[in-house]
Amino acid sequence: MKNLKIGTIASHSALNILSGAKAEGITSVLYCKADRESFYRQWNVADEIITLDSYAELFDLDTSEVIMIPHGSFVAYLPIDRLVKSDIKLFGSKKLLEWESDRKLKDQLMKTAKLPVPKEFDSWEDVDRPVIIKYYGAEGGKGYFVAQNRDEIKQKADFSRKFSIQEYIVGTKVYVTFFQSYLYERTELFGADIRYETDIDAKLRFTADPTFTIVGNIPVVLRESLLIPYQKMAENFVAAAESLLNERIPGPFCLESIIDRNLNIYVFEFSGRIVAGTNVMIPSSPYSYIFHGEHMWMGRRIAREIKQANERGLLEELIS
Ligand code: AMP
Ligand code: AMP
Repeated sequence: MKNLKIGTIASHSALNILSGAKAEGITSVLYCKADRESFYRQWNVADEIITLDSYAELFDLDTSEVIMIPHGSFVAYLPIDRLVKSDIKLFGSKKLLEWESDRKLKDQLMKTAKLPVPKEFDSWEDVDRPVIIKYYGAEGGKGYFVAQNRDEIKQKADFSRKFSIQEYIVGTKVYVTFFQSYLYERTELFGADIRYETDIDAKLRFTADPTFTIVGNIPVVLRESLLIPYQKMAENFVAAAESLLNERIPGPFCLESIIDRNLNIYVFEFSGRIVAGTNVMIPSSPYSYIFHGEHMWMGRRIAREIKQANERGLLEELIS
């Protein structure tokens, strides 16, 4: 593409993405709700800001020169089926985003990749240990609850809604982010973060029904020996996704896990796109710095892959 632009919507990891485009000399465009415009303008990282009343207006705009970088707000604020069918050019695989937003498909992919997932119960009547109840469509942990046993599920669950029942793992939540590069044919271990959620992480006070609402992220450097199983899992994930989706999955993805007291790793989710946890990796995570030998944050890594692919005439292969 001649007049290549990188675009995203104003939220989640937009500053990360825009500053990365700037560092790689790619023009950027930010799609922004009016009430956030003055905030984003101050940062001076977007070459162009387009104001919208609703994110759905994105579908009506001419975005033919824009490679859109999907993040958590795309999944949260845009109807996924419409996004997949639209002619908006996304960096990465639209199918992977679709699989990410459908719990059944997500489970299928995680199982095919042989990720060590927590035990799932098909019926609440089979539950024999503490569990976490996840309503379908719940966002960022909102509306999840923990139940110690069957009676508690019976008491607290809204049986008119669909939910999954997962073994509750006690441990440290570690989110490990990778970048899948097809230009270099490798799965780069990019960095890791810990999620900070209220109230489950507020350790000072007892809360009977803690919530899991995401507040922010904290950088973490793992025991080096733990990196090895994560790398293996990430490579298995890529192979499983490629075979199930029948396409490549360029770009960032994240394995969302809990490490228990015996150093067992349980992967309970994945994100097939940039996660907000990578915001702690600006200008680098220790790993991305070692790997690239220069400051490398996820927004920049994305922009660099796009730039190099464009120079080599391979961009079409990285977008969907
Ligand atoms: P916001 O613009 O803060 O409302 O966030 C947009 C969407 O991204 C919501 O669905 C949030 O739950 C999600 N989100 C924002 N920040 C994070 C984060 N640090 N980790 C995970 N999800 C996030
Ligand atoms: P999710 O929306 O699946 O990313 O989960 C949101 C939060 O719920 C996570 O960050 C964890 O704090 C918690 N969580 C999810 N699954 C489990 C699990 N199986 N065991 C313990 N906590 C969990």
